[in-house]
Amino acid sequence: MTETITLSHNVAGRAVSGAPAFEQRNPALPDDLRVEGPEADAALVAEAVAAARAAVGAIEAAGIEARADALARIGRALMADADRLGLLIARETGKTLGDSKGEVMRAARIFDFFAGETLRNVGERFASTRPGATVEVEYAPVGVVAAITPWNFPIAIPAWKIAPALAFGNAVVWKPSEISSATADALMAVIAAAGLPAGSVNMVLGAGGAGKALAEADGIDAISFTGSAATGERVRLAAAQRGVRVQLEMGGVNGLIVLADADLDNAVDCAVNGAFFAAGQRCTATSRIIADHAIADRFVEAVRAKVAAIKIGDPRDPATQVGPLAAPRQKELIARQVAGVEATGAAPLFGGSAAAMEHCFYAPTLFDNVETPDFLGQEEIFGPVAGVFRVDGFEEAIQALNGNRFGLSAGICTRSLLHAEEFKRRARAGMLMVNLPTAGVDYHAPFGGTAGSSYGPREQGRAARTFYTFIKTSYQKPL
Ligand code: ADP
Repeated sequence: MTETITLSHNVAGRAVSGAPAFEQRNPALPDDLRVEGPEADAALVAEAVAAARAAVGAIEAAGIEARADALARIGRALMADADRLGLLIARETGKTLGDSKGEVMRAARIFDFFAGETLRNVGERFASTRPGATVEVEYAPVGVVAAITPWNFPIAIPAWKIAPALAFGNAVVWKPSEISSATADALMAVIAAAGLPAGSVNMVLGAGGAGKALAEADGIDAISFTGSAATGERVRLAAAQRGVRVQLEMGGVNGLIVLADADLDNAVDCAVNGAFFAAGQRCTATSRIIADHAIADRFVEAVRAKVAAIKIGDPRDPATQVGPLAAPRQKELIARQVAGVEATGAAPLFGGSAAAMEHCFYAPTLFDNVETPDFLGQEEIFGPVAGVFRVDGFEEAIQALNGNRFGLSAGICTRSLLHAEEFKRRARAGMLMVNLPTAGVDYHAPFGGTAGSSYGPREQGRAARTFYTFIKTSYQKPL
C-alpha cells in the first residue's frame, strides 16, 4: 500500500496547511511513497519573514550558550535518528540507503561543528592611529536569511546553511525543494525540539514559484542558494535589484584528468565514483574524464568492467550502489540531453538511450572521443553521464580542463608531484582533488567554486562566517 505524507509550511513554530500543489513519489517504486504539500505565495512568505525578523532579537537575547546547546542538541538528535531519516531520504529521493544515512550523519556533524563556532565568533581590538582611542572589529548577524535548497543533498545542504545562520545569530526562512520536502519537514521537527526561540527557522514549501516569492521578499537581508545555474542567475538578479547579499552554489561540468603515470585502479575508482555514484546527481560529479592517449584504452576498458559490476536497484537495499534519478522530470531532462548528444552521431560506449530502464532509473552512460566544444564539454548533465576527452600530455589536459565556463571541482590522477602541484596552481576550480574523486568533500573545510559555478563567499567550515555576518568596526575614546 502506498504511504501518503501530507505536509504543511511551518511559520513561527506553527503548521500552516494549504491545498496540495506538488507531489513527489519514491522514484524507484512509485507505489511505495507519495509526498504532497502546498505552495507558498508572497503573503505566506511575508508572514514567515516577519516571524524570522521577530526571532532575531529573541535569538540575541537567549545568548550564545543557549544557541550552542540547541545546535548541539540538533546534531545529537540527527545522529540518534540516522536510520529512520536515512530511510526517508532513500524513499523520497532515491538516494541509496548508505549514502542517505551517511548524509544524515554529515548533517549532524555540521550542526555539531557550528555549535562550537557559536562560541568562537572572535573579533579583534587594536590601537587607533588617534592616540588614546581603540578600534574593535566584531562580526554581527546579518538578520533574516533566506535559504533556498535543492533535493540532491536534502538534509546536508540545508544543514550547512541553517546551522551557520543560527550560530552567528540570524533567523532563517527556508524553501526546500519540492522533491525533498518530507525530508525537510523531518529536519524541521528536529530543529523545533531543540529549544530555539519560535520563528528562528521557518519553512515555506513549494516549487519555483515559492522560491521566487522568497528571493523577492521584502525584509530579507541575505539569500543563500544552491541549485541550477539558470535558477541561480535569477536569484542573483532578484538579490542585486534589492541590494540583498547573495551566495550561490550552482553546477559544474567537472573534469578529472588521468595522466599516463596514474595508478590505473585508483583512476578507475575515482572516475566511476565521481561520474556514476549518487546517479551523477552531485554538483561535484565528474562529467569530463580527460585521459592521456597513452593510458586511455586500458582506462576505458577498466571503467567499462567496473561499471558493469555496479549494483543498480532499490535504494532501500543496503547492497545497492546506485539508485534512480530523483524524479520523472529529471529523467526526462537527462534522456533529452543524451538523445541530443547521440543525434550528433556520438554513440555511447555503454548506457545511453538504448539502455532504457524502468521508473526513474537511468543507466550509467559513457561517451568516448569527446571534444571540448561539444555539448558534453560545456553543459551540465545532472545524471550518470560522462565523456572521455583524449589528450596528449599534461599541457593539453589542463587546457581541456579549463575550457569550460564552470569551475566547481577538478581532479587529477597522477604519481607526479610536479604535475599535481602544477594542476593545483593552474586548474580553474574551487575544489581540487589529487588522486581522489571530484565529488566527496569534508564538512569542516570551505566549499565552493569559481567562474560560472559559484557567486559570493564560501560555504562551510570557518569560512561560513563571512556570509552570515557583517563586520562592525567600532572606534572608542574613553573620556
Ligand atoms: P533543480 O533542478 O536541482 O531542482 P533548481 O535550481 O530549479 O534546480 O532548484 C533549486 C531550488 O531553487 C529549489 O528549491 C527550487 O524550487 C528553487 N527555485 C526554482 N526556481 C526558482 C526561482 N525562480 N527563484 C528562486 N528559487 C527557485
